Amino acid sequence: MKCPYCNSQNTSVIDSRPVEDNAIRRRRQCDDCNKRFTTYERVESIELVVRKKDGTIEPYDKNKIRQGIVYSSVKRPISKESIDRLVAEIEEEIMVFANKTEIESQKIGEIVLEKLRTLDKVAYIRFASVYRDFREVSNFKEEVANINK
Ligand SMILES: [Zn+2]
Repeated sequence: MKCPYCNSQNTSVIDSRPVEDNAIRRRRQCDDCNKRFTTYERVESIELVVRKKDGTIEPYDKNKIRQGIVYSSVKRPISKESIDRLVAEIEEEIMVFANKTEIESQKIGEIVLEKLRTLDKVAYIRFASVYRDFREVSNFKEEVANINK
């Protein structure tokens, strides 16, 4: 990164923080003239496909995850900010578990459930009931038992 004042190539990052979806704000300082400036870097959306239970694949879509969480959080005391944070955390985990370019939809569901469980129990059970498509009462009871742990 070139210094806008003296064109030096020697600059250091002194602070960086995410500002909005996929963007990072960085405070930088020039090592030569010591002046400070700010840059905004945008991360291109990630290339990832999701393999569904029936074996078909579809492009990874963060909004689907968000929608599932928003839907599960209706009328719960959950702020937009905590949903944003949760989605960011989930995405980080997905990147860890993704086999380079592919991840199973089931794994995504598990990651979302794990994160939701810590945020809100009701949202968690709602998401679980939709995601896992409970057909057996015993499964549902098991989930409720897990929640109360
Ligand atoms: Zn400079």
